Amino acid sequence: MSDDLRDLYQEVILDHAKNPRNYGAPENGGEGQCRHARGNNPLCGDRLTLHVTVADGVVRDARFEGDGCAISMASASLMTEAVKGRPEAEVRDLFHRFHELMTIEDSEADPDALDKLAVFSGVREFPVRVKCATLAWHTLIAALDGDDDATTEA
Ligand code: ZN
Repeated sequence: MSDDLRDLYQEVILDHAKNPRNYGAPENGGEGQCRHARGNNPLCGDRLTLHVTVADGVVRDARFEGDGCAISMASASLMTEAVKGRPEAEVRDLFHRFHELMTIEDSEADPDALDKLAVFSGVREFPVRVKCATLAWHTLIAALDGDDDATTEA
């Protein structure tokens, strides 16, 4: 990865950490059914609550609340942006690709397909932070599956 790209990625992460998008509880009365899950990453102390509204198999809204390190907050922020408007099956597929990007050295996952989520590709070099980046995703999948708790395995 070039230094320029690294700097750009860093900037995007810091921007989303400071000004998280889709932060806060959802307003009542929206269409579809709102599901929630809590995520906890004991290694770092990241905690978040994920709210996701699905109607007709499509994620209509995704919001989060919580507190954690810059990577966990930025990941939740970028994730909620990435999944809105997508069919649930596509969201699960995106999670697998994101997880692969985070954990497999020579990932075949096409960074372009991940769009903005590619900013986290540098996190792979810091294995201890990978759980920070994937926490929001594990929590989202837990919410979609109807589990209300997602704790990253230590
Ligand atoms: Zn963290």
